[in-house]
Amino acid sequence: MEKVIVLYPSEGRGHLIAMVELGKLILKHHPSFSITIFVLNTHSASTAQHVASSTAQYMAAVEAATPSITFLHLPPISGVPSTLFPPELMYLVPRLNNPNVHQALQTISHTSKLKAFVIDFFCDAAFEVAANLSIPTYYFFTSSASGLAAFLYHPTLHKNLDKSFKDLNHMLIDIPGLPSIPASDMSKATSDRSSKVYEYFLDSATHMAKSNGLLVNTFELLETKAIKALSDGLCVPDGPTPPIFCIGPLISSSNQDGDDHQHECLNWLNSQPSRSVVFLCFGSMGLELFSAKQLREIAVGLENSGQRFLWVVRNPATDNNKEPDLDELLPQGFLERTKDRGFVVKQWAPQAEVLSHGSVGGFVTHCGWNSVLEAVCGGVPMIAWPLYAEQKMNRVVLVKELKVALAVNESEDGLVSAAELEKRVRELIVSEAGREVRDRVSGMRDAAVAAVKEGGSSHVAFAELAELWLTTTC
Ligand code: UDP
Repeated sequence: MEKVIVLYPSEGRGHLIAMVELGKLILKHHPSFSITIFVLNTHSASTAQHVASSTAQYMAAVEAATPSITFLHLPPISGVPSTLFPPELMYLVPRLNNPNVHQALQTISHTSKLKAFVIDFFCDAAFEVAANLSIPTYYFFTSSASGLAAFLYHPTLHKNLDKSFKDLNHMLIDIPGLPSIPASDMSKATSDRSSKVYEYFLDSATHMAKSNGLLVNTFELLETKAIKALSDGLCVPDGPTPPIFCIGPLISSSNQDGDDHQHECLNWLNSQPSRSVVFLCFGSMGLELFSAKQLREIAVGLENSGQRFLWVVRNPATDNNKEPDLDELLPQGFLERTKDRGFVVKQWAPQAEVLSHGSVGGFVTHCGWNSVLEAVCGGVPMIAWPLYAEQKMNRVVLVKELKVALAVNESEDGLVSAAELEKRVRELIVSEAGREVRDRVSGMRDAAVAAVKEGGSSHVAFAELAELWLTTTC
């Protein structure tokens, strides 16, 4: 009988890419296995059409290049309120899909040996489905080990605190393995104890602690303290911590869209000096798109910095699906004045390729974990400009603990001024503080390469897991 591992990513490009890379890694260790990836239909109003079509193209390219990977599209669910708070929607859609997941797992088990079911935490509702079918279930945490530590420690914080994070303002929250995090920097989804999504987070943290194992897209040298806290069981003080497998960095280094055509921004990068260009790109989700005012501040900051830049511009939230009209959005004459040292891309750039290009010397990022790993693997130092999810916490970790980024400071209303961006860009590219961060990231790039090589920490961790899956019978 064919041996199958089923992967169940949540909606979101970053979550999907990490799962696909996991699938490829499994096949490297077990070429005779097959991988089935469940795909949820997009219900989020904030997912732009160009992201959805680029993702469809990406999946087609994966299937063409790796026939042992199959995407199984779960049927669309009707009546989903698409304007719900995004993380609530990301939990709700998999929950509504439980009957479909049950049926799909049963069908697969009839014809194949289902070795493991690996789920994203947003797909937590499927944990019970798999438990009822006695299928060993693992979680693949596609964010950092620091994020996982905070996640698993959440039920303990819930017990020890009597107020919501949103009412604790700047009080410092201590989580094993992390620097202290101001309550205001905790994920918005966990900020209100009375919300539905808070309940979902608590439930999934509890289920995760009972799973067969937790896979994390990180490596030992990058997040030594958080990984030690997890392995020492400090994040689940009331019970055992399941085995932790740090198997990263898993990133997609090739052209994700499977398009042979070289993007024009890569041609432009070819003509720029080594490590001179600052790249600005803020993720795939479109959850917190910039206002027109913020886009203008960025433009002024870049112009005044005097540095070279490559900037991915998307429309403000009101026009997410339309191509941005750069002449209308950017200050008059900006494109002409900066044409010798700047390049603006509309909507979407081949980010992983950009970050591995030798001309890129800095990355202004929203701190999504895939973006962070892509930067680390390219040896590119970062300016941390968090926008949503756990990204404010990531900023604290990246700046204070990992020391691979400088922080951008926003005003009370969330706006980052032109002057602030100008200052940080100069600091990163030309100052001593920037040099320290650059040196640190370049050391981490080498450590990342070593981690996935034969005998490296991630290679060893994955080999253990692969062996376990080989011998599992269910
Ligand atoms: N990405 C890209 N081009 C873009 C924007 C994003 O290729 O213009 C890719 C990026 O390389 C990364 C993923 O989309 O692999 C974003 O994942 P991340 O975890 O950083 O953020 P999310 O979008 O999930 O918030």
